Amino acid sequence: MNINSPRYLTSFNIRELPHRFTDILIIGSGLAGLRAALAVSKEQRVTVLTKAEEIEASNSDRAQGGIASVLDPTDAFSKHIADTLVAGADLCDEEVVTRVVTEGPERIQEMIQMGTQFDLQKDGTLELGREGGHGMNRVAHAHGDATGHELMRTLVENVKKAPNIQVHTQCYTLDLLTFEGRCVGAIVNDSVIGKVIYWARQTIVATGGIGQLYRETTNSPVATGDGIAMALRAGAKIKDMEFVQFHPTVLYVAGSSRSLITEAIRGEGAFLIDKNGCRFMPEYDERAELAPRDIVSRSIVAQMVKTNSTTVFLTLAHKDPELILHRFPGIAAICAHFGIDITKDPIPVRPGAHYMMGGIEVDQEGRTNVPGLWAIGEVSCTGLHGANRLASNSLLEAIVYGVAAGVGASKAAQTISDEQHLRVLQISNQVKTPRNPVLHLQDIKNTLKSVMWRSAGVKRNAELLTEGLESLAQLKRFMQGEQIESEGWDLQNMLQIGTIIMEAALLREETRGGHTRTEFPDRRPEWHKHLTFQRQEDGSVMVETEELK
Ligand SMILES: Cc1cc2nc3c(=O)[nH]c(=O)nc-3n(C[C@H](O)[C@H](O)[C@H](O)COP(=O)(O)OP(=O)(O)OC[C@H]3O[C@@H](n4cnc5c(N)ncnc54)[C@H](O)[C@@H]3O)c2cc1C
Repeated sequence: MNINSPRYLTSFNIRELPHRFTDILIIGSGLAGLRAALAVSKEQRVTVLTKAEEIEASNSDRAQGGIASVLDPTDAFSKHIADTLVAGADLCDEEVVTRVVTEGPERIQEMIQMGTQFDLQKDGTLELGREGGHGMNRVAHAHGDATGHELMRTLVENVKKAPNIQVHTQCYTLDLLTFEGRCVGAIVNDSVIGKVIYWARQTIVATGGIGQLYRETTNSPVATGDGIAMALRAGAKIKDMEFVQFHPTVLYVAGSSRSLITEAIRGEGAFLIDKNGCRFMPEYDERAELAPRDIVSRSIVAQMVKTNSTTVFLTLAHKDPELILHRFPGIAAICAHFGIDITKDPIPVRPGAHYMMGGIEVDQEGRTNVPGLWAIGEVSCTGLHGANRLASNSLLEAIVYGVAAGVGASKAAQTISDEQHLRVLQISNQVKTPRNPVLHLQDIKNTLKSVMWRSAGVKRNAELLTEGLESLAQLKRFMQGEQIESEGWDLQNMLQIGTIIMEAALLREETRGGHTRTEFPDRRPEWHKHLTFQRQEDGSVMVETEELK
């Protein structure tokens, strides 16, 4: 393995740039970032940055199915814990799972108090859905299939009312600043004034996932892995990157954006059929359509190959149309744009990159190994998901860790004196390679996404991964020079993260959770371990293995 990483993406000299000071800097305005902002002490100044034009633009806003928690008297923490551990394929951290599951109901209650309106049954209790891998109905949802949007609406409203929190849109965070090994803030490109230094007593990364690395994805355009890449450059440990979850059912209509068809639709009884109308999931797994996502995704790919087809289909034709339209109004509307009536027509679907289980390694409060730096939400690797995320556990993780890191960073900020915080440290960087002036960034991005899909998608093998790594190395050479706009920075981050995903996938010679190696179709006891990547002082990136008992 021979990976290198620059320390900073951009040239800068701190003396020449404007400076802003804040107590807590939060990079990312999704569910995790905004929940953390609201957990910080009201006495402290919080700055939230997003690279998007709108606060809401995020994976959080897109979440459909809901948020999992033990909310029904017939359910039990032990059952939710057991389901999470099974999905995680023996790589979850059981202490973390127990902590998130048991804290869940309290965090959801707080969201309700803040104004979230979950769907209720006639008797006023929460209407709970069921999703793949859950043994009980435990998924709270809002407006049928717009749960993420409702949670985000709640937090945005509360953040706007909080005088200590400021949100800045179109602020692309390029890199985390470190001084003597401690994170002291970030270098940011503000679309109005250009490069700015944000000095912070504590910094929280909440930049979300990596789905945009893949040609087929459910993710928002913001999900380019920036947070993981900038944390790697700053010396943070990056863990479990081979574990990408491919959602089995992404709407596949030529010309449409790749919309997710929520798992909850299978929870309500939808069947998966092939182009000949045959229901195939029972042949692959006794849990049929409700098997964990990795199994359903692999089965769909196998059935597409078997039937020589580019899609399979979801059908709800055997269900009550009224119930379906009440429960899934958003999906019904999207499909209607393409002439598909979900109450009777088959919905064409295939897998797409959906969720990154790995990320920045953190402890139970969201603290990274770099002092002053925290990570929460999809960008982090807490140990909750192991090798595969149980459906609807990620929104829960975002709010549990959002609160933990908000409170933790708030306390830690009090230990940083004004003298330490307000001094302007002499940090600078010079990118030596000039920018290649003839690059067509969109073309490079399309190539990267196709390479990732082909080589590090649902099914992987050594030959494909080696080819993929060579292709990425070539693209990286073109992109070495200094970039001057967000598209270029996104691409540099995507190439860095794509390389790590492929290196990790090549090393892990087994099939486990979201990671499938066709030459090693089984789980192997010698791979009961984690892979962790860390940049060294000389710019090389080293991998370590963490054996588990
Ligand atoms: C279609 C879809 C449906 C889903 N459904 C569910 C579900 O039903 N239940 C569930 O539990 N999970 C679901 N998930 C997963 C879940 O939505 C995400 O894991 C979770 O919302 C991530 O939240 P986050 O706050 O970590 O990141 P995000 O919500 O993605 O927010 C990331 C933020 O970081 C900002 N950002 C990124 N890079 C930079 C940068 N360089 N500089 C500044 N800002 C930056 C972005 O602009 C954005 O504000 C779904 C995901 C998708 C895509």
